[in-house]
Amino acid sequence: MAAIAQGTAITGEPIPPFEHSYARLPQRFYTRVEPTPVRAPLLLRLNHALAEELGLDADWLASPDGIAMLAGNWTPDTALPIAMAYAGHQFGQFVPSLGDGRAILLGEVIDRQGRRRDLQLKGAGRTPFSRSGDGRAVLGPVLREYVLGEAMHGLGIPTTRALAMVATGEPVLRERPEPGAILTRIAASHIRVGSFEYFARRGDMEAVRTLGDYLIQRHYPALVDADDPYAEVLAAVASRQGELIAGWLLVGFIHGVMNTDNMALSGETIDYGPCAFMDEYDPSQVYSSIDRFGRYAYGQQPSIGLWNLTQLANCLLPLLDDDIEAAKARARSALDAYGRAFELAYYGGLRAKIGLLVEPGADKSADDELVQDLLSRMAAHKADYTNTFRRLSGVTLEDPSTLEAIRANFTEPAAFDQWAEEWRTRLARQKEPDAARQTRMRAQNPTYIPRNHRMQQVIDAATERGDLKPLEGLLAVVSSPYDDHAELAQYQKPPEEHEVVRQTFCGT
Ligand code: AMP
Ligand code: MG
Repeated sequence: MAAIAQGTAITGEPIPPFEHSYARLPQRFYTRVEPTPVRAPLLLRLNHALAEELGLDADWLASPDGIAMLAGNWTPDTALPIAMAYAGHQFGQFVPSLGDGRAILLGEVIDRQGRRRDLQLKGAGRTPFSRSGDGRAVLGPVLREYVLGEAMHGLGIPTTRALAMVATGEPVLRERPEPGAILTRIAASHIRVGSFEYFARRGDMEAVRTLGDYLIQRHYPALVDADDPYAEVLAAVASRQGELIAGWLLVGFIHGVMNTDNMALSGETIDYGPCAFMDEYDPSQVYSSIDRFGRYAYGQQPSIGLWNLTQLANCLLPLLDDDIEAAKARARSALDAYGRAFELAYYGGLRAKIGLLVEPGADKSADDELVQDLLSRMAAHKADYTNTFRRLSGVTLEDPSTLEAIRANFTEPAAFDQWAEEWRTRLARQKEPDAARQTRMRAQNPTYIPRNHRMQQVIDAATERGDLKPLEGLLAVVSSPYDDHAELAQYQKPPEEHEVVRQTFCGT
């Protein structure tokens, strides 16, 4: 099997020298389709840091030719535009054919570290998978995807990212006409749980195997020669998902539409729709306007992750063993990797968020109870998630006045005081200088998240007034979320009552 994960770094070629490992897969994996040109493309933002990482020439991307490519008005000879086929469980209901209804993959680039990454135009026009959709994207959701991807990256959580954002100069009809936009998405790949479901449901096990082999070569090359590659790749995927979803919980992120077509097997966060970071800690928090029963609430995400992976496991069963009971047993044991990875990352992350050091092999149950007790009190007393942890990072053991800023986060400060007493007793046992603990804690507890009301201000300013200054402001803080900037303190503030955003929309 030829390795496809490696490549040689490219050096600022003006026209991206796209590669096409996915488009070399059998025809039924995708459809060839050209982007539909737009009237008046305008480059709203180029992600220079990401262009640099990809070895792409930012000046060329911002040139008329580059913009024409990013707008879908011109396809360079090196591109091979395709819409990928996939299925998916949407809110638990299986839809046998979804596919890229408004996204077109131009090809893959090998970044400066030799990693293969997809470059895809989202909102570039209709494809054979569009069903009744118009193939377009709206400026507001495109802005949200750009900012939240950069925030996620800044937080150190695997994610797709936006390379560019282009206004189309054409209105897109939603509840009312909205400005159209195209986002250039960079992803480790776009292989989803739903990609496997598409073929498995058709009984096309040859395609399932081909896709499994491709997944292994592209993302899990260490498993190419594994004894039991499909069980092992299932465990590896599960483990990355467990870590990813733990990462989301630790920063208060709610994906909002964890359908199986929105779960990438690379382990990256993908498909920023009605997603949000929460302000007050509440495990039952839901923002998405379409999630009426709270299926994808904050606290449901770990169990939904496993549910989605179980759908993937079902697709792979025939590859695991000829005997169905033996295949199920293998799948179950592979999926155990999910819980293990999640618990390690989540509970370890929580202990780190409150600064606890744990000796290897020590019993962690009392520490875990201490964290859970804090979370319960935060939920009961509406404490802001981000600010509570960030301010805990600033506490000095000898100086109880440093606790004041945290108490104020709780509707009943005494509830925090009782907990803080225990926490300080526990920290005192570590005999660690305050400064060392504070540094560790600040690296775990961001000071800036893209708060919903800030995101809404960015969207309103851009959509209603063509003003991109709020976008620049928010991007600047979320790109380095662990560093304090005294002059940017307003970005830490939770929303005032009249600013609270209670619902987010996917804008499709
Ligand atoms: P999402 O909810 O964004 O993950 O999208 C679910 C499915 O709907 C995918 O197959 C999308 O390609 C498709 N879709 C979403 N919006 C549109 C649109 N405006 N036009 C065509 N297809 C769309
Ligand atoms: Mg999707």
